[in-house]
Amino acid sequence: MRSIPRLRFAHLPTPVESLSWLSDELGGPQLLVKRDDLTGLAFGGNKTRKLEFLLADAQSQGARTLITAGAVQSNHCRQTAAAAARFGLECILVLAGEIPQVYTANLLLDHLLGANLVWCLLEERDQTLQEIFTKSKESGGQPYLIPYGGSNPVGAAAYAFAIKEMLDQGVNPDWIVFGTSSGGTQAGLVAGARLMGYRGQIAGISIDQPALVLRERIARLAEEVIGLFGEKIYVSSEEILVIDEYLGEGYGYMGEAEKEAIRLFARFEGLLLDPVYTGRAAAGLIDMIRKRYFEREANVLFWHTGGGPALFADRYRELGLSH
Ligand SMILES: *Cc1c(COP(=O)(O)O)cnc(C)c1O
Repeated sequence: MRSIPRLRFAHLPTPVESLSWLSDELGGPQLLVKRDDLTGLAFGGNKTRKLEFLLADAQSQGARTLITAGAVQSNHCRQTAAAAARFGLECILVLAGEIPQVYTANLLLDHLLGANLVWCLLEERDQTLQEIFTKSKESGGQPYLIPYGGSNPVGAAAYAFAIKEMLDQGVNPDWIVFGTSSGGTQAGLVAGARLMGYRGQIAGISIDQPALVLRERIARLAEEVIGLFGEKIYVSSEEILVIDEYLGEGYGYMGEAEKEAIRLFARFEGLLLDPVYTGRAAAGLIDMIRKRYFEREANVLFWHTGGGPALFADRYRELGLSH
């Protein structure tokens, strides 16, 4: 694979572990987990991989300020703030939502990591981001804009390399299952599969988007990632597998299914999920296993994308209610 400029700060390769207790409990296929919750950089997660490439790009452009946007409890914002601190850059985060009285979880970490926080309404987010960028540029901040979720071709390319990493570990599962939202992770995995000849199924469990929208976006982004590697391959949205049956009450709402998934993974494997992404993705996976979606002999790899700090957000404190 052609090399793409990259800084090395993620803890790679991340381990692959067997979830045999959970497999037994569910009477399902053989479950594995790829631990991208252990990528490092202020509690890790999938954005750390993307940031290795985004930071290299920012440095090559002489950037002094990283600017990005996200939800109040954004993991992407927390990891971007950590990367900025690590490489001596300023960081401005545009957060959509109400200013909480107390900063908890990811927001607490953004604050500790020295990010400047700008608050706006959700519908004003993109416009605010653009305004902040222009203002920083005019005042000599040399800003570098990282899109929502770090999901441009440069960021997503990280997950093409992650497919190679997995295959190099001798792991070649029939299925890869994970939470998909801005689509960068899935686009990179799909691109990597095409480039490396991985033939298993790549199933994104949508966190907050209709499959129709996400599949098209992921197909185009995967093509652009493949283009960065100097190849030209057509990717049809038809071949992108997005499951949007587990959207629940919407982004960030933790329902009974997410709570059950978090408890099952914790109690049977000692593994922590998060209320927004991995909890929802695992809830989908568990439901699919119960409905016999997978063959009994199949290997299913759950790609853990991180997000653990959100467990400690005020908003999810009902997880702590005793039963
Ligand atoms: C951002 C994020 C995702 C979704 O990844 P995308 O590349 O945006 O689709 C999944 N899990 C966690 C924990 C995340 O922070």
